[in-house]
Order: sequence, then C-alpha cells, then structure tokens
Amino acid sequence: ALIAQPGPGAGLPADGIPGVAAAPGIAIGTLHWWRETTPEPAEAGQGIAAEREALRAALAAIDAQLAHESEAATARRAGAEAGIFAMHRALLEDPALQAAAETMIAAGKSAGFAWREATRAEAAMLSAMADRRMAERAADLLDLGKRVLRALAPAGSAPVQLPAPAADGDVIVLAAGEFTPSDLTGLDRTRVAALVMARGGPTSHAAIIARQLGIPCLVALGSALERLQDGTPVIADGDSARLHACPDAHLLAAAASAVRLRAQQREADLRAAHAAASTRDGVPIEVAANIGSLDDARNAVAHGADAVGLLRTELLFLHGDAAPAAADHTASCQAIADALQGRSAIVRTLDIGADKDAAWLHLPAEDNPALGLRGVRLAQVRPQLLDDQLRGLLAVRASGPLRILLPMVSEVGELLAWRERIRALAAEAGTDPEIEVGVMIEVPSAALLADQLAEHADFFSIGTNDLTQYTLAIDRCQPELAARMDGLHPAVLRMIAATTEGAARHGRWVGVCGALAGDPLAVPVLVGLGVTELSVDAGLVPGVKARVRALSHADCRQRAGELLRLPSAAAVRDACRRYWPA
Ligand code: PEP
Ligand code: MG
Repeated sequence: ALIAQPGPGAGLPADGIPGVAAAPGIAIGTLHWWRETTPEPAEAGQGIAAEREALRAALAAIDAQLAHESEAATARRAGAEAGIFAMHRALLEDPALQAAAETMIAAGKSAGFAWREATRAEAAMLSAMADRRMAERAADLLDLGKRVLRALAPAGSAPVQLPAPAADGDVIVLAAGEFTPSDLTGLDRTRVAALVMARGGPTSHAAIIARQLGIPCLVALGSALERLQDGTPVIADGDSARLHACPDAHLLAAAASAVRLRAQQREADLRAAHAAASTRDGVPIEVAANIGSLDDARNAVAHGADAVGLLRTELLFLHGDAAPAAADHTASCQAIADALQGRSAIVRTLDIGADKDAAWLHLPAEDNPALGLRGVRLAQVRPQLLDDQLRGLLAVRASGPLRILLPMVSEVGELLAWRERIRALAAEAGTDPEIEVGVMIEVPSAALLADQLAEHADFFSIGTNDLTQYTLAIDRCQPELAARMDGLHPAVLRMIAATTEGAARHGRWVGVCGALAGDPLAVPVLVGLGVTELSVDAGLVPGVKARVRALSHADCRQRAGELLRLPSAAAVRDACRRYWPA
C-alpha cells in the first residue's frame, strides 16, 4: 500500500521499506547520510618514478593500518572482522591490480588516479557477476581504492563528521549506498544506533562488522532509501527487516514501547543475574564469563557472572614485544583473581598461533596455521613459553578456586604429559600439585575420544568456535563462509553429545566457552545435551541466566536428542525457534 503524504516519506509503502535484516534489534533515530570526502586525484602524474614511489609508500602505509586493525579485531575476539582486514591485505598485494595501476602510471597517470581506476575496473567486473557473493566483494575493492586515495592526499583526509545531536538522546541511523569496512572502524557508537544500506547483502563485510558492533543493520533497501534525506525521522527494525520513514505517532509509540520493553527486560535480567540460575525443574547451570583482561574481570562481576569460565591469557600479551616472564603471568593473573572476589576462574594456557598471532614470537610461517603449531602444540618448539606460564600461574594466591585449561589437546597422551609437567612444576615451587586441570574440546578427535580424556581430566570446556571450524572444515576467519560457520550444525551437536557422554562415564562436568554458549537459540540445546556450565561474554550473562530459568531440563533433553537427526544448521535453528521461542 502506498501512502500519499508530502515530505521525504512520500510514496513509501505504509508498512515500511522492505530490506534484508543483517543484524537484529530496533532503533529509533534520525537518518543521516554517510558522506565521505574521498580526495579527488589529479589525472596526470608528476613523473613515473615519483608516482611509482608514492604508490609503493601508500600501499605500505595501508598494509600497516590493516595489520593493526586486524590485530585489534583479534584482541576483541572478532574473528570474522579480523579476517576481513587480513583479506584486504591480500587484495592489496594482488599482482593483477598492481600491474594494472603500474601500466597507467607508466602511461603518465598519477598514482592515485591509477590505483582508483584499477580498483574501479576490477570492482565493476565483480559487480557484474551473477554470484551475489562475488558482487559483495566489489565493496572491498572500492574500500581499498578509498584507503589509498586518503593515504595519498597531502594532509590525509578529515574523518566524517556526524551532525551535532538535535536533542538529548538523539541518535543517528546512518545510511549509505553501501558501507565499506574502513567506514565502520572508529565509528562513534554512542551516536550511531543503526546502519542502513541501499545495496549490500547480509554476508557483506559491513554487515559482519555491524553484527559485531551489536547494532541493528538493514541492507538492500534499494532506491526507496536513496530518496530519504538527512534529518528524516526513521525506525530501523532489524527484526522485521523494515525501515519506517516518517513514522506516524502510532508506529512510533509501538517502536518506542518495544525498545523500552527490551531495555526493561535487560535491567530486570541484570538485577536477577547476581543469583545462581537453574532450570524450572531444578538443574543448576553455572553461567560464567569469558574474559581477556582485568577490565573484563570487573565487568564480569558487575554482570553477575558466577565464575570465569575462560580467561584467554594470550590476549594479555598479544601486543607485547617480548615473551612474558613467569612473574608477568603471576602479576596479571593475580590481579584478575583478586578482582573476582572468590569466584572460581578457569585460566587457559597461552593459545597462540593461527588466528591469534603474537608478533614477538617470530613464528615461522605455516601453510595451514590452524592445523599447525598452536595451543599446547607450541610447546614442541617453545617449551619455555608454557613452562614460564605454568610457573607463573602456580604462584598465584587466589581466594577462589583456580583451574588450568589446556587448548588444542587432541589425545590422552598429551593430557597425561601436561598433567605430569604441571605436577613437577608444582613440586618444584612447593605449591598444590592437585590443581584442577581441564581440557578444551575443540578438535574433533578430542570430542570423539572424550571418554578416554575424561578419565584423566577434571573437566571439559568445549570451544565451539574451533570445534565448528574443524568439524565443518570452515576457516573461522574466512568471511566468505561466515554464514555457514554455525555451531548448531548437527555434526557439531553430535560432537558435543559425544563429549558429554564421554564425560559422564567418569563423572566429569562439561562447559561450553565458545560463542555458541551465548546464542539464545543454542542455550536450550546445550543444556539438553548435558552441558552444565555456559561461559559467555560478560554482557550476555544476564540474558543467558534468564533463558536458563525459563527452560525445563527434561524437555530440553528430549528435544536436543531429536535435533541430532536433522540435516542442517538451518533446520536445527528452525526447530529451536519453534521449540523454544526467544
Ligand atoms: C573456541 O575455540 O571456541 C574458544 C573458546 O577459544 P578461542 O575462540 O579463543 O579459540
Ligand atoms: Mg579455540
């Protein structure tokens, strides 16, 4: 239905502009177009040698910038986002692209002009392809074009300014034809409440970043979006995939009430989060937090985490310039343990390698780093590194229980060797030799051999991020496959079932510390499969506890068993939505 209405909303469907939802949530705000001033390059160059050198220097500068952004995303555990910037670095080195720019420079064009034309030509070719995913990649090339032009501009280019807020609490729904990844790094999140795009798809790189930012995002809104002007009041509804322009009082009230209800629910969940959670039929589920720093530890306590289910120690040292000494490990872990005020903490030993590279290690490049020297395997070439950490951890005096978690264990011999090493180091230091040692279940072999591992491990923590990567053979940092990297895949669920069954034979408990634990649709499934601890980002603790309290364990158990027989992650998600509506 079209409504005849003067003003910017004229001619729009009454039920909003339909798009594709790329990230959920509702935001009410003022539309503002992202207007970027990419410097316009002069066409003519100032000498072939000078232009060549200018391009080389600009590409090197962008490469360093991308490396930094990729590292920062890794530190935030935003794997797919890190992968996007890593992929941009690879594009930057594309010999065909460089050759095309080089040819134009040799023909007398400026570096900026040559690079822009080369990226535009390649992007045009991709855009014309029938494969939507290839077309989405055109945005990446245009992004690199822009970055290089900015780097070549004499004084760089000024960052985009957002308009001053019109009123208290006024937020922006930021619009673009299509955002590129570099647009979204450094976005003022206190002002931007949603992203809307005329083009793009749900697997576009901007969409991946929006999901990680945690704000609603709509794509493919088409020319109807382009007709809206700055200052238009809008409702971006990432749940029903619609953008409402100039909403009437009725719609506005409904949206405001939905936003308010959500906020009230969050507040109520937070208040209730400080008590332990059990299912309706009385099965206690520990809801813990994943942390990587002292700030995270404080945040975990503030959000009602029962414990720390995963301390990613490598994040403490990723940006250092030398291997941490035992005393560094003690100091950082002691501070975190103190902040936890008696709560238990599971400290994972350094999980460096693959997606968590630490430059100071100067590790030799590997063809398949995810299948190489990562996690405890690193000790094969750098035994000192883990020994120092274990010595450091054993010296921590915590008021709550401290447990050690070993990443990337794939068979029982490895676990036995590490247990022995920990005992020896504890004896050397005169500390408790019986400190609890658990195994990360993230390699399929460990899930399949869980009964053997359970004989010698005190507990398991399932790393669904890696377990999904290795079970489905999908690189967790490969943004093109991000949509298929789903831990609710029945093959991954069968791995989880094998783990809990193996653990039960020896009376061990099983937690999940991968991102799946914080997915509301997955919570009932994990509980049903016998998981008794869910370790999630601190901000998710209140919502996960609320979800647990609404479940019946018996019902979860029965239905989870049925899910294992479904053929795809999509089928599992559909069933979960029907069984346990969020
Ligand atoms: C996992 O693999 O699921 C996990 C929790 O560890 P990380 O994401 O640090 O590899
Ligand atoms: Mg892992």
